[in-house]
Amino acid sequence: MADRVAEEVRGVLWDIDDTLFDYSGAERAGILEYLAALGLLDAFTSAEEAHASWNADMEAAYERFLAGELGFQEQRRVRVEAFLGRIGRAAADPDVWFAGYLDAFTRHRRVFDDVIPALDALSGYRHGLLSNSSSRYQEDKLAAIGLRGRFVSLVCSGEIGHAKPAPEAFLAGCAALGLPPGQVVYVGDKLTTDAHGALAAGLRAVWLDRRGVGEGVDVPRVRTLADLPELLRVIDFGAPPPIR
Ligand SMILES: [Mg+2]
Repeated sequence: MADRVAEEVRGVLWDIDDTLFDYSGAERAGILEYLAALGLLDAFTSAEEAHASWNADMEAAYERFLAGELGFQEQRRVRVEAFLGRIGRAAADPDVWFAGYLDAFTRHRRVFDDVIPALDALSGYRHGLLSNSSSRYQEDKLAAIGLRGRFVSLVCSGEIGHAKPAPEAFLAGCAALGLPPGQVVYVGDKLTTDAHGALAAGLRAVWLDRRGVGEGVDVPRVRTLADLPELLRVIDFGAPPPIR
């Protein structure tokens, strides 16, 4: 990475899923509720196995979406077919099956409790969003959970053709925010995709390690967004930029 002069942080670029929005919680509650309603939960050895399978099939299909191999709706179909195939079933219409899951997921979606207080405490910064997803999907979700008005910009990989950790994704997020990368800190829950990717693109980065698994990692880290305002004060005025 090129040397750079320390600049004041003026903007925060945010990841959405599992950073602001409790995606994992809604996914788990949603799939278990949906399988129970369909009478399919007993086809798995445990609820944990059912959820782990659904999550694994999501990750596999989503990787192909991020690589540009599948469209956003297509990866949902692939996910349904892989998951039901595990128990020797098939959906008559995978889109309809997924829509049923999405209804259950939607009933369980929520913003993490530390989000609004952190945004209030950081009201002096400009805030934008950068997500490996589809803009239409994220726009709808953010509006429904009451967060969209808090951010001046939303950039999604599905529309720009670059997914995190590619530098192009972070640079597009900064451009939409209207700030140079050196004045932006990225906050996300994935160490490699979010924090390392942002640093490589010339942004600052804070890793949101909600599960507390990253002791000793060489990236600024918070366990909760309640600690973010203080950390940003340190990054701003105390420590040199976290170049790695
Ligand atoms: Mg995330």
